[in-house]
Amino acid sequence: MAASEVVTPPYPPMLEGRHPEAPLGFDLDKCVHCGLCLNNCPTYRELGLEMDSPRGRIYQMVQVATGQMEPGPSYVEHLDLCLACRGCESACPSGVPYGRMIEAARTEIEWTRKRPWPARVLRRFIFNRLLVSPGLLKAAGAVLYLYEASGLRRIAQGSGMLKLFGKLGRIEHLAPSAEVPFFFDKVGKTFPAVGERRHRVAFLSGCLANVTSARLNEATVRVLQQNGCEVVVTEGQTCCGALHVHSGLKEEARALARRNIDVFLAGGYDAVITNAAGCGSTLKEYHELLEHDEAYREKAARFVALMKDVTEFLAGIGLNTQMASLDVTATYQDSCHLAHGQKIRAAPRQLLAAMPGVTVKELPLADLCCGSAGVYNIVHDDIADSLLRKKIALINGTGADVVTTANVGCAIQLKAGAERYGRGQRVLHVVELLDEAYTRAQRT
Ligand code: SF4
Ligand code: SF4
Repeated sequence: MAASEVVTPPYPPMLEGRHPEAPLGFDLDKCVHCGLCLNNCPTYRELGLEMDSPRGRIYQMVQVATGQMEPGPSYVEHLDLCLACRGCESACPSGVPYGRMIEAARTEIEWTRKRPWPARVLRRFIFNRLLVSPGLLKAAGAVLYLYEASGLRRIAQGSGMLKLFGKLGRIEHLAPSAEVPFFFDKVGKTFPAVGERRHRVAFLSGCLANVTSARLNEATVRVLQQNGCEVVVTEGQTCCGALHVHSGLKEEARALARRNIDVFLAGGYDAVITNAAGCGSTLKEYHELLEHDEAYREKAARFVALMKDVTEFLAGIGLNTQMASLDVTATYQDSCHLAHGQKIRAAPRQLLAAMPGVTVKELPLADLCCGSAGVYNIVHDDIADSLLRKKIALINGTGADVVTTANVGCAIQLKAGAERYGRGQRVLHVVELLDEAYTRAQRT
């Protein structure tokens, strides 16, 4: 499709009988097809195809909505290739809510399309079982841990045998490490404030992150304690449902949202904290997810008002600056769901600037996706790898020895990239660097 063929609103009437959560005409009409978002779109930059740009995808949504195109394989492929990074939203002068639209389009695709049975079984297992079951996550974590601790991973990576496993072998380096002891042991516990208690907060520790980012979760709790917070790792919490929403499984996400809302509202906290920007973005949109649920609409709005990214919270309460000097050069990669989804760019940079001995080098194109995007780096490993390679080249150019970010998925992707294409830079969440500064200060 050439840009000159683009049809602008008003469109022909929307089809009757579509899925109730299909993209809304109200949203689709907002796009005036100006193309100002194109340069912010990683897939357009990679593939150079209008159909893989935000404008092209919106145009395809319009064609499906008005019955001019079937939601067939080509439509599914172009929408699947979208990272849902929402970089286009930040560039759009017309306020097009692209994140909401891509989620709606994927929900409609899930409704109309029957996947092959192995894919259905696998998806059902991952979304309905694995992500919501601490027992299964611990079992998967144990397997991952043994794979690494036994030396099998080193042998597999060094011997070239991974080539025999096709795509699985190609993406093996992206598998995160399982960090024992898992953070699940801390769920249900309360950690007192250091010094005077100024806030009582809940910590949402995630699902997979309890296994793959256990040390980050511990660091988050310690940093909050150092900032006068009593931290409750609330019992009964569950997966936030972000991966479900991004995959078009909104009903499953709603069930998880209701449970989290009940559990966290019952605690009477000053704030609910997450260190995962991808989760935070969905958690802050629970009111939209449950807007048609009479029983939960108001509760969801109260929950959303409490939800804070850890960097946003710390920058907002006045950071404890009793830290040791670290003597590092750091750069910061924006997490898409923090910068574009939650519009938070200043807070993590403020925290870095407040740390003694940290020289901050701004990263060019810091808010362009690193290719992680949930499970995108697994499903579309070729595009994700190309994005990562370019990202690491820019990071190398800053000369930074520490790469910071604000999302678990980005950190895992960047770590793999720093080892493959970089100079072995350390990759840390911003709160992990803060934790180092507080811990060193206590030792001196
Ligand atoms: S910038 Fe906004 S209005 Fe312009 S093409 Fe992109 S989404 Fe549409
Ligand atoms: S969400 Fe990201 S990948 Fe998808 S169209 Fe927008 S900028 Fe492109």
